Amino acid sequence: MIVVLIGPGGVGKGTVARRLLERDGRLWLSRSWTTREPRPTETGEEYFFVTREVFESAIANDFFYEWAQFQGNLYGTPVPHPPEGRDVLLEIEVEGARQVRERQSDAVIVLLTAPSMDQLEERLRGRGDQEEHVRRRLESTRGEIEAGRRLADYVVVNDDVERASGEILSILEGLRQSRRVPS
Ligand code: 5GP
Repeated sequence: MIVVLIGPGGVGKGTVARRLLERDGRLWLSRSWTTREPRPTETGEEYFFVTREVFESAIANDFFYEWAQFQGNLYGTPVPHPPEGRDVLLEIEVEGARQVRERQSDAVIVLLTAPSMDQLEERLRGRGDQEEHVRRRLESTRGEIEAGRRLADYVVVNDDVERASGEILSILEGLRQSRRVPS
């Protein structure tokens, strides 16, 4: 099973994804590549940070399962090779999710939204992005949510990390039961 978590910047996708991994040992998180610079708050583990040249040569070598340009930077998921029996979790933007849907029609796409726009703005500022970056992000947020709603199988409000991750885990559990091939 491929599970795709989408949602606008600042909605808390990363936090929810981490919580999902802690709570469900069957999930396996793919580590993306990006050409963006690491943020001051990042440790370097969040992505493989690469140059545009390296990224473009990986595209040419069909290395990516999906990739997209977002806010001027390239982001991509390497073709996943999860350990046997694990489900793949991707935390990506909406254009990449569209590519995943094309490659695998039964991918489970979950749109994470914030309870309000004010909260989104607060979260974006809190994580130390530059003002100009915060402003651009907010402008594109509405569009991302609309595109995400069209693509998503499920919409989950991130009002609380425990509750939202619990809701996603129940969705996945239901799907695992219904997709299980009888022996
Ligand atoms: P950020 O720069 O804030 O870490 O990420 C910007 C956006 O890129 C977020 O929506 C994030 O989910 C998305 N993203 C991260 N990795 C990937 C990836 O591998 N592919 C795609 N398409 N988007 C990604």
